[in-house]
Amino acid sequence: MSHDSRKIRLIMDLRNQGVTDTAILSAIETMPREAFVEEAFLDQAYANQALPINCGQTISQPLIVGLMTQALELGDRHKVLEVGTGSGYQAAILSKLARRVYTIERHRDLLAQAEKRFTKLHIHNITTMSGDGYKGWPAQAPFDRILVTAAARVVPPELVAQLSDQGGIMVLPVGDTGGLNQEVIRVRKDGKQFHSERMFPVRFVPLVEGFPADESAAKRQR
Ligand code: SAH
Repeated sequence: MSHDSRKIRLIMDLRNQGVTDTAILSAIETMPREAFVEEAFLDQAYANQALPINCGQTISQPLIVGLMTQALELGDRHKVLEVGTGSGYQAAILSKLARRVYTIERHRDLLAQAEKRFTKLHIHNITTMSGDGYKGWPAQAPFDRILVTAAARVVPPELVAQLSDQGGIMVLPVGDTGGLNQEVIRVRKDGKQFHSERMFPVRFVPLVEGFPADESAAKRQR
């Protein structure tokens, strides 16, 4: 089966499973996911599943990308922070729906690969940083929207602080960092008021505190 027919089936699957926002569906339809997966998994680029990428990480399942993006209630003037660039796929989807995307990744190798993909695809509204996304990106705060694509044990207070207090929304997986018992939480911030709601169960790699991720660099520092 060709990428195109698999893609049509994937879009139908996403719609049936609750991704109803047509702008999001069309962003997923036009973004070449095959540019974000490793060569060994090219034939599975449009399967509705997470796939392994370098550094023991994963590119998220398209359904989860769709549902989490939808939960963000994005507007085209929004400034968005993503924590956990990984392959860059989720950031690329966000770049089609928001004004500007800031994305942080703790593995330099993954970030370098993702940056090459953005350039190749002529995506110019993504700004990247290697570092510990648990701390957010204070210099660019506040953000209208924050999306975390790695699981935290608790909602990181630094990220809440960097969320706009005029209707800011943060979407993140929270729970056991071993992968079980995680669910997506949506936090809304209005003035000093917060409201969080539980959305759906997921399985994400852990949000790891600390930077750099590179073991040899960590050893050199000791
Ligand atoms: N959004 C990605 C999937 C991310 S997998 C995509 O579309 O492909 C989660 C990513 O979060 C991994 O690449 C992992 O290295 C990164 N990560 C984990 N903890 C982090 C932290 N504290 N700061 C920044 N990135 C982190």
